[in-house]
Amino acid sequence: MDVRYSVIDTFCHLLKKNRRFPRGYDKDKYLAHMNSYGWRIRKSKVLELRDFKCELCGKEKDLKVHHMAYGNIEKEEDYELSVLCKSCHTTSHFLTKNKISLPSPSVNRQILSMRLDVRSKKTKRKIKYFLKIREDH
Ligand SMILES: [Zn+2]
Ligand SMILES: [Zn+2]
Repeated sequence: MDVRYSVIDTFCHLLKKNRRFPRGYDKDKYLAHMNSYGWRIRKSKVLELRDFKCELCGKEKDLKVHHMAYGNIEKEEDYELSVLCKSCHTTSHFLTKNKISLPSPSVNRQILSMRLDVRSKKTKRKIKYFLKIREDH
């Protein structure tokens, strides 16, 4: 099975919902969690579980553990976390932030593989254009 496919599928699914903190949880608590010993341990376990590779492109450098969902924050389930390289991580956040909803995992994978410069102002337009082309066929 293509691991990347399932990760992107989960990512697509979670993109639209579950990206909010649970009631009563705030940014300060999140930052404290990010700096905790527990999170360091949790992170290393996820990295090991995913073979120390970016789940989207397979890169082995500059890996980040990304929250796809915050529903069980501080008691994260494996499926709520993904291992992404710096570039895929930035792209993931860019897509979420701009509420670009993606039509299917395979298209999502193609977009992520385009390795767009997310700092560029043209990127959002490029993605929208790409999605439009896909819809027309
Ligand atoms: Zn990557
Ligand atoms: Zn992230």
